Amino acid sequence: MNVPYRKLEIPPYSKSDIAFLALGTILNAALTIWGLVWVTTHWHVVNPPWYALVVALALGLFLADFLSGLLHWAFDTWFDEKMAAISRMVVLVREHHVYPHHIFRYDMHHEAGSGSWTSLFFTAPVYGLVTVGVSEGTIVGFSSVVACIVISLCIVFMLQFHKLGHRRSKSKIIRMLQVSRLLMSPQHHGWHHSANHDVKYCLINGWADQVLDALGFWRWMERVIQRATGAVPRRNDHEWMRRYGRSGGLR
Ligand SMILES: [Zn+2]
Ligand SMILES: [Zn+2]
Repeated sequence: MNVPYRKLEIPPYSKSDIAFLALGTILNAALTIWGLVWVTTHWHVVNPPWYALVVALALGLFLADFLSGLLHWAFDTWFDEKMAAISRMVVLVREHHVYPHHIFRYDMHHEAGSGSWTSLFFTAPVYGLVTVGVSEGTIVGFSSVVACIVISLCIVFMLQFHKLGHRRSKSKIIRMLQVSRLLMSPQHHGWHHSANHDVKYCLINGWADQVLDALGFWRWMERVIQRATGAVPRRNDHEWMRRYGRSGGLR
């Protein structure tokens, strides 16, 4: 594949970046394993009906997709590379809009940490409440833990699913999952890159996109935040596209 010459300077990892990402990966992996052990050892206590498991799996896949979209939207719309703690991530997101195929230069072990922290933020309270709290014997509690395991796994692999949305996979299984909409297809993700980078933010399977874009959810959120803070949506993204962009980049 012909990858264009890199014009953007990607900041190197600092030691604190590496430590932060490694810690997130370890904590999230530990919590996910804990969730799996808890589900296995409590199966006979709750004896969940099959439909509760189907709902938990579907809910986990939808919420994972929603969280991937929320994170993507936040980086595309509001974040700035001058924010020290997330500077490198913001630059990588900006680079992706200018040179989409540069994502293939980054490996899974560099990308799992950021997703792991996002997963932890949303799933740790549920794991804690259900597995150490009082509702461990209920179907709702059990299903919540199953949904959290799905979310944890999907969010950690989010950027790998994103890569699969950028070129046709050689694997028949992957292509089958994409055709059956269990994974995001290149056609679906192409919508995000073909316009103003302001639609189809979700990166797992696109289920949440169908709902959120139809409701105008992101534009509503942007109006609320702009009114409250005065911040301009995508200001930074537009600046980057002007600075480094392709001809005809943004409408
Ligand atoms: Zn993309
Ligand atoms: Zn984007």
